[in-house]
Amino acid sequence: MYSVFKEYPNGVKALARLNLHITKGEFVFLVGASGAGKSSLIRLVFREELPSRGQVIIGGKSIARLRASQVAKLRRNIGVVFQDFRLLMDRTAFDNVAFALRVLQYSGKEIKARVPEVLAMVGLKGKEQCYPNQLSGGEQQRLAIARAVVNNPKILVADEPTGNLDPDTSWEIMHLLDEINQRGTTLVMATHDQSIVDNMKRRTLVLKKGIVIDDRREGGYIL
Ligand code: ADP
Ligand code: ADP
Repeated sequence: MYSVFKEYPNGVKALARLNLHITKGEFVFLVGASGAGKSSLIRLVFREELPSRGQVIIGGKSIARLRASQVAKLRRNIGVVFQDFRLLMDRTAFDNVAFALRVLQYSGKEIKARVPEVLAMVGLKGKEQCYPNQLSGGEQQRLAIARAVVNNPKILVADEPTGNLDPDTSWEIMHLLDEINQRGTTLVMATHDQSIVDNMKRRTLVLKKGIVIDDRREGGYIL
């Protein structure tokens, strides 16, 4: 991102002259107080929002002026996970993941093969027919992660993915995200959880009032 500014229609300036470069395969934490601009930055990455000024470049291409088909292509390469899971509550675990593949026009045969595979990878083997409310919070987040990675995206962005989970469950989710990163997916994760950042020892970008005030190679931060 080069000199990125984000100002919302109500005049709130969420990001100001933000510069940052994330290399393929990295695992990067975004930390900073509430309102620092973490979610805004994440929404720029998957192009839910556009920058007011500056350039957001992903895979060598500026995402500013894309045709609808190019936006679809970009989004196919980016998985997203949220704090509140955002699952379809009236569909089974299998169907939550299958839905993502149907949107991408995978065949029924591919869906039948791929969905159980990815559910097993996130540790939900045997839970295919469960509805989200029959799953624990950690399992619901595993399901959301399965949905986000089923298409093997190059980038996974996660906005406070452990924000609603207890510490033990948070760690299980971190191990899963780490494993996904080890398989080659670039991971960008916003978090408030200092113990996770301290223990994971990954690159950490500290945001304050819309700018990066620190970029640490191995975690550990003081607000
Ligand atoms: P963080 O994720 O670090 O809490 P955000 O990116 O959510 O930070 O917010 C940065 C600032 O932008 C805050 O002042 C917030 O209220 C504001 N903001 C975020 N989203 C919007 C929006 N859609 N419209 C207006 N203001 C917003
Ligand atoms: P969090 O900081 O918990 O991740 P977000 O910043 O993602 O929360 O905000 C959740 C939703 O509320 C987003 O859709 C965002 O656009 C909207 N939002 C956040 N702050 C504001 C604001 N000040 N004015 C209007 N909408 C906002």
